[in-house]
Amino acid sequence: MSGREARPDLQEFPLIWLSGTNCDGCSIKALGDTTAGGLEALLTGAVEGLPRVRLHHALLSPESGDAFTDIMLRAGRGELEPFGLINEGAVPTEPESGFYSGLGDVDGSPGGLGRWLDILAPRARFVIAWGDCAVWGGPHSLEPNPTGATGTEMHLGTEFRSAGGLPVINCPGCAAPTVLNGLLVQLLQWHLEVGPAPRLDRDNRPEAYSGPWEGAFVAWKG
Ligand code: SF4
Repeated sequence: MSGREARPDLQEFPLIWLSGTNCDGCSIKALGDTTAGGLEALLTGAVEGLPRVRLHHALLSPESGDAFTDIMLRAGRGELEPFGLINEGAVPTEPESGFYSGLGDVDGSPGGLGRWLDILAPRARFVIAWGDCAVWGGPHSLEPNPTGATGTEMHLGTEFRSAGGLPVINCPGCAAPTVLNGLLVQLLQWHLEVGPAPRLDRDNRPEAYSGPWEGAFVAWKG
């Protein structure tokens, strides 16, 4: 297969962006990242050889209400594949203290971030945990942690693999460093079989960006 020419169905690549217990700072960081032409280069299809990224983001998408969650539900039913998944939020897990980070309904029940991850992550080609909140729970998981906030990989399990066979790709930092655009380009090239999958370190952080990870850690792995 020779990449985009052999995949005319891939004129668009959906990218679903979840947020949960977070401050939106990592979204702001991504929007301000000018590397690799900025996120807008991917969103406008300006990156040579790659499909236009169709971003589905609660703050940036024109859809709202049922129209917004319908896209996510379709993805959870396998009707949107292939797609990528980014999570920016810590995952609340403490049902005794309340319900947090709800977004629409899933199977007739309020859709918390953990539920959305459960139905979307296994169908996604790749899953990126974007920022400390998503990687290990961030400031929301500090004691006494009344919401039971935890990270994406901790929620999905260390054995988790995406539909593309990748573990959760961890990009820690508060806010996350400016690595998202380059990482997305690499992941899309890998998806189109014109490039390798990102090499990950022992904490599942992309090795190509070892500089930004200095001082950024994955708490539960020490
Ligand atoms: S990691 Fe920091 S900047 Fe990013 S969403 Fe969490 S609190 Fe905000």
